[in-house]
Amino acid sequence: MSEPYFPQRGNEGYRITNYELGLVYRVATNRLDGGAVLTATATGPGPLDEFTLDLSQAMRVDRVAIEAGHRVVRARHSRRADKLRVIPAEPLAAGQAFKVEIRYTGAPKLMSSQFGGLGWEQLTDGALVASQPIGAPSWFPCDDRPDRKASYTITVTAESAYHVAANGVQVSRRTGGAQTTWTYRQDEPMATYLASVQVGKYRSIELSNRGVRQNVVVPPRFVSRAKTAFAAQPRMIEVFEKFFGPYPFAGGYTAVIADDDLEIPIEAQGMSIFGVNHLAAGWENERLIAHELSHQWFGNSLTVVDWRDIWLHEGFAAYAEWLWSEASGQRSADEHARRWHQRLAKRPQDLVLADPTPQHMFDDRVYKRGALTLHALRLTVGDVAFLGILRDWTAANRHGGVRTEDFVKLVTASGNPAMPRSDSFFERWLETRKLPPLPPA
Ligand SMILES: [Zn+2]
Repeated sequence: MSEPYFPQRGNEGYRITNYELGLVYRVATNRLDGGAVLTATATGPGPLDEFTLDLSQAMRVDRVAIEAGHRVVRARHSRRADKLRVIPAEPLAAGQAFKVEIRYTGAPKLMSSQFGGLGWEQLTDGALVASQPIGAPSWFPCDDRPDRKASYTITVTAESAYHVAANGVQVSRRTGGAQTTWTYRQDEPMATYLASVQVGKYRSIELSNRGVRQNVVVPPRFVSRAKTAFAAQPRMIEVFEKFFGPYPFAGGYTAVIADDDLEIPIEAQGMSIFGVNHLAAGWENERLIAHELSHQWFGNSLTVVDWRDIWLHEGFAAYAEWLWSEASGQRSADEHARRWHQRLAKRPQDLVLADPTPQHMFDDRVYKRGALTLHALRLTVGDVAFLGILRDWTAANRHGGVRTEDFVKLVTASGNPAMPRSDSFFERWLETRKLPPLPPA
């Protein structure tokens, strides 16, 4: 079944378990030479005589080959819009493991969407990747759906003046001549939209090596401002681990400060990308640091099966901001909730939280009503039960795919006596347009 919000994305007949991407990037000309080896299995029921991948039409495909049973055979391919169609020389039997090797090249262009351009973006002196939700095919061939997670090895070669960051653990960095090759390994499963490469004249500074390893990758002239702006983050991780369970990724957490102003920061796996405009002091930027960090649990470890359930990312991340505010001795979550409830009450109530439509999936009302839903749940079941729900939710679905119905089930199955009619609670908050009243504090 196709993904309901972006049915043009995703492909059938196989599943990819690992992406091995080898990229050579020339900053000055924005030229990307790519090699991708995708490890996959044919899913049947019948033999796979052709299949498609998502890849931007801005990338020219030079060669496709299939490796099956230790034989590498060239495959025919054709293009239509942002799809690459592959026709193996021999059909692949159901259940057969195989690898697809694709050589491609071009000047990456942003994928167009109702949210503006997405994916690989050339900066004044570097590049960034911000793909959510459908920008991944701008830079690599993939099966572009949030429920198709896989492991990754990402190798990028660029001129040695540039720092390259990508998802996962940095396993090597080799300089030869004027070029440096960086290799990162992402073992925990990752959705395509969270795969990311950042290229710039950056310095990497260590924020903390106690517990979760934390780095800030930043233009040298912003180092001291970045240290100040991110000073609270190590404490934030400790607080979130208490609420949400262990930080999910072995590679630690890297905040990249692109040498540019960005409208909003964006999360990737084990990484978030901010603009230099986000380094100013104040709650507005502190809450964004907390928001992006919390996506490592809600969005990256627990990823929606389809985009209708985006509140499971954004509502939880918005609530994490309020939890941090409360835990750090600032405004309480209840104060935030009551202020936002008043504001939302004055705005159009025409969204269904559990299916906001693709046009409104990143509408701030989805974020804030999602957070209000969690606060209403907390007020209903009490702090202790609420904390238990959060921790059970993240533990049960670690590195997996999630749906709204799974969350409702988890809460109702907990048998909390304070929730006699939990179905009606969720119906009012998740399925009904009208904003329900907040329970008393
Ligand atoms: Zn977010």
